[in-house]
Amino acid sequence: MTTKYQAIKGVKDILPGEIEKWQFMEKTAREVFELYGFSEIRIPIFEMTAVFTRSIGETTDIVEKEMYTFPDRSGDSLTLRPEGTASVVRAYVEHNLYNPPSVVKLYYMGPMFRCERPQAGRYRQFYQIGVEVFGTENPEIDAEVIGMLLKYFEKLGLKELELQINSLGCDECRPKFREALLEFLKNKINLLCEDCQKRFERNPLRIFDCKSVSCHDATKEAPTIEGYRCDNCKSHFNSTINFLDKLNIPYVKNPKLVRGLDYYTKTAFEIISKGLGSQNAIAGGGRYDKLVEEFGGPPTPAFGFAIGMDRTAQLIQPLAFSLQPSVFIVALGERANQKVFELINNLRQNEIRVERDYEGSSLKSQLRKANKFGVRYTIIIGDNELDKDKVILRDMSGSRQEEIDIETIVEIMTKKLRER
Ligand code: AMP
Repeated sequence: MTTKYQAIKGVKDILPGEIEKWQFMEKTAREVFELYGFSEIRIPIFEMTAVFTRSIGETTDIVEKEMYTFPDRSGDSLTLRPEGTASVVRAYVEHNLYNPPSVVKLYYMGPMFRCERPQAGRYRQFYQIGVEVFGTENPEIDAEVIGMLLKYFEKLGLKELELQINSLGCDECRPKFREALLEFLKNKINLLCEDCQKRFERNPLRIFDCKSVSCHDATKEAPTIEGYRCDNCKSHFNSTINFLDKLNIPYVKNPKLVRGLDYYTKTAFEIISKGLGSQNAIAGGGRYDKLVEEFGGPPTPAFGFAIGMDRTAQLIQPLAFSLQPSVFIVALGERANQKVFELINNLRQNEIRVERDYEGSSLKSQLRKANKFGVRYTIIIGDNELDKDKVILRDMSGSRQEEIDIETIVEIMTKKLRER
C-alpha cells in the first residue's frame, strides 16, 4: 500500500481561492508602507540560535519551549526564526545600516515558526508582516507607525478593531515595578499555575499574560507599571497618546499589557479584533530602545510591529478578487481547435484572461465549464462559424448572443471588458 502524506500538525497549505487574500495583504502592505517611506528587507528563515535567545529573552515562552532549534552538520546550533525583529536588528548592525546616521525604516514579510499547541488561530508555521524603524526616540514615530498600521487594516476592510496600549517603562523604572510585583505576589504563589510559579522567579511580568483563571484572579489587584514609570517614560507615554489623539486614533490604555518578548521598553501595544475567538490579537509591537546596542551596534532607539497574517486573513471579506478568467472559448471540432490555439494566444498577448477546455468535450459540457469559471463572455467556434470567418460571442450575464468577425475578436473583447 502506498503511504498518504499529510502536512504536519499546525502547518497548512494556502490554496487557490484563499491565496488571493494573502496576495491582497502583501500588495496592500507594500503600497501603504512604501507611502510612509519603508523599504523591504528579506531576512533569512534561520539564524544562529543566539540571535533569538539573546534578544527575545532566555526566560520567555518562545525561547524556553517554542523554538525549532537543531544542530547543523557542523554542530552549530541553528533556529528557524520565531519572529522577525531579532533578524532585522542583526542585519541592521551587520551591514552598518546606521551609517550614515538617519532614520531607517524597514519592512519584511514571511513565515515564522513556533512549536505551540495548535488551535484555531495558532499555528506552528504562521506568517507575519512586520516593520521596524531605527534611529529615533521621538514619540511621533510611535503614533505615526501605529497610525500606518491602522490605515493598513482599514484598506483591508477590517472593522471592530481595538488598539490597546501601555508603556512598559525602562531600565530605570521597570526593576522597581518588578520588586513591587514580587512583593505583592509572594504570598500568592500557591494560587498561580505551575508555569507562573516558575515565572515568579524568572520573569514575573509574564504572569499578566497568562490565560489561566487562577493567575488572572491572583493578579487582579496587583500593582501595575502605571504607578512606577519614571518621569522620562511618563512624558514619552503622554506624548505618544497626545499624538494618537491628534491622528484621531481611539485607544484603550491597558496597564497590564505585557508582550511575549522581553526586548520591549516604553511603548507596547496590540491590535485586538472583536471578530475572532480567544486568539484575537492580530498585531503587536512596541519600542525596543536597547536591542541594537545588545547586538553590538551604537545606541539606537527603535520601534516596530508584527501583523499576524493568518488571523488577519480570517477577517478579510471574500472580496471580488478577479483572478477568474474573463472569457471562455468553446471549440467544436478539430479545425476549430487549431484556430482556438492561436486565438487564445492572441487574446493573452493583449492581456485578456482566457480559459478553454482541453478535452474536446461536448458543447453542453464546455458551456458548463464556462459557467463554473464565472466568465463574463464565452466565444463559440465550430465549423459553420469558421466557414464564414465568424465566431459566436455570448454574454453570460444575459445569455445574449451575437456573431462577430473572427478578426475583430481582440478589439471587441478589449472594448467590452473595459466597458463594465
Ligand atoms: P508576536 O510576534 O508574538 O508579537 O505576535 C505578533 C502577531 O503574530 C500576533 O498578534 C498574532 O496575530 C501573530 N501570531 C503570533 N504567534 C502566532 C501563531 N502561533 N499562529 C498564528 N499567528 C501568530
